[in-house]
Amino acid sequence: MEKQLNNQQVADQEQALVKYENVKKQFGDNEVLKGLNLAIQPGEKVALIGPSGSGKTTIIRMLMTLEKPTSGVITIGGEPLWHKKVGEKLVPADEKHLRRLRTDIGMVFQHFNLFPHMTILRNVTEAPIHVLGLSKEEATERAVDMLNKVGLGDKLDAYPEQLSGGQKQRVAIARAVVMRPKVMLFDEVTSALDPELVGEVLQVIKDLAEETDMAMILVTHEMDFARDVADRVVFLHNGQIEEQGKPSEILENPKSERLQSFLSRFL
Ligand code: ADP
Repeated sequence: MEKQLNNQQVADQEQALVKYENVKKQFGDNEVLKGLNLAIQPGEKVALIGPSGSGKTTIIRMLMTLEKPTSGVITIGGEPLWHKKVGEKLVPADEKHLRRLRTDIGMVFQHFNLFPHMTILRNVTEAPIHVLGLSKEEATERAVDMLNKVGLGDKLDAYPEQLSGGQKQRVAIARAVVMRPKVMLFDEVTSALDPELVGEVLQVIKDLAEETDMAMILVTHEMDFARDVADRVVFLHNGQIEEQGKPSEILENPKSERLQSFLSRFL
């Protein structure tokens, strides 16, 4: 009989998909991240919670290559993001290296940034055609499948301005996921929505989280959502991880006073 490994042993054996090693980030005099160490396993769903200004968005913007760390190393699939290995040496990465690694990463922002002059279908097929080099037929097949999954199969020919905020955000999710990234980043994707539209977007993400083996990093202020979706919740305070663990541990049995005080605001 095969020997059963416990979760920790399995995690140790797997190579992390995303790894931040002693990552610091400074904006002028403001040290936003103070030596972050965080490893995310393939398929793992991680919720980042913490007060405004604690560095959550900066963590995911650096992975999306929208911000560069001041020091430290971020790797994806074992490859350094901002540097390139030449033999044993690390040299600064060029645009080609970044472009290649970026195809493993998908991101959805607060604001949907859809192309206003394109139909919903074209919004979703553009990148598979132009970045992945799929044929129009293949891209359309994938896009229709994704748009069906997010409940917008009947809106293929509509334009963004004809959709509600929640529908637009679901298109933005489909547009990122259609690229089949290894990790999806969600940055407070419901915070710009009217309250009655929040549920439908969170539901789409929950369904995706259950169905796919993509890793996810979710910055959120929705604690119930974090509890439902995440394998691990990471609480940030002042650019450092203050506490992390299973949702039940972090959200129901917080240890640090800071986390207790943070969570009390949601009661
Ligand atoms: P959070 O997502 O937890 O609210 P952020 O990562 O957005 O935190 O921001 C952390 C800190 O970094 C804040 O003090 C913010 O003002 C600062 N910051 C973020 N981006 C920039 C930037 N481009 N220039 C200067 N300061 C920034």
